Amino acid sequence: MSNIYNFSNNSSFISQVNLFEVVLLSLLFLSIGSFVSTLILRLEPSISLKISNILFRRSNCKNCKKNISLINLIPIVGYLKQFGKCQKCKKNISIFYPLTEAIFYLVGIMIFNEYGISIFSIYLFLIFTVFYILFFLDLTYLYLPLPLNLSILVLGFTGNIFFNFATDSTILFFDITPLMFSLIGFICGYSFLWIVNSIYRFFNNIDGIGGGDFILLGGIGSIIGPLSLGPVLFMAASLGIIYYIFKRTLNQKELPLGSFIILGGILYFFIKRFELFQNFIVL
Ligand SMILES: [Zn+2]
Repeated sequence: MSNIYNFSNNSSFISQVNLFEVVLLSLLFLSIGSFVSTLILRLEPSISLKISNILFRRSNCKNCKKNISLINLIPIVGYLKQFGKCQKCKKNISIFYPLTEAIFYLVGIMIFNEYGISIFSIYLFLIFTVFYILFFLDLTYLYLPLPLNLSILVLGFTGNIFFNFATDSTILFFDITPLMFSLIGFICGYSFLWIVNSIYRFFNNIDGIGGGDFILLGGIGSIIGPLSLGPVLFMAASLGIIYYIFKRTLNQKELPLGSFIILGGILYFFIKRFELFQNFIVL
């Protein structure tokens, strides 16, 4: 049974596509990166979640509010052409824009190179996109918007039910369907953090974990299944502790747990796909 861990791409990506398609895909990845960087800056919790506000507003300079000309909105090219400064007020433009565009380009090419033109590539790229947005929103504002969180669930359930996206030996071992794999994954992820939070609230009278984190871990569970959640949480907690030690001086009380859960999920995928540490783990 082919899944994202054992999928082998027999013919190389280059032999599957022609130059025109490579250019087209590159432009697509760059544009999505450009859209994502804008989206992250527009999804601040203070701004109302109106579709018109998010999707159809003309991009303007954060400093002088002047509209950005169309040519300067071209991914990376626009940034380089303006030498990283707003043409009107000369204020530096955030490096976050071109960096995100470059990351989306590289990740897109890497995914399609690894999985070819396949449904797995599309799913992985979509999941990466949602993860990227949630990662930075949680890191910056401790904010995990519900629609994005729910889209992870949709990707998890549809991916596993229709394409065995990340269904592993858990399915054979427990003799369950892909639907149950996703469902049990969701329930385990959601209820684990819910229980931890309930215990915390019992002793401290306040919530220790945000509700968005429950859904996020549940969503990741719906993609990679219940048994993966232990390692994901372990890695998330380890990264969170390291971050906390470094950030302690800034007197930041709250930890962006969601961001670390996402990093844990991505690390888990890499470890399983490329069989890292296989010599160290006796399973
Ligand atoms: Zn400006």
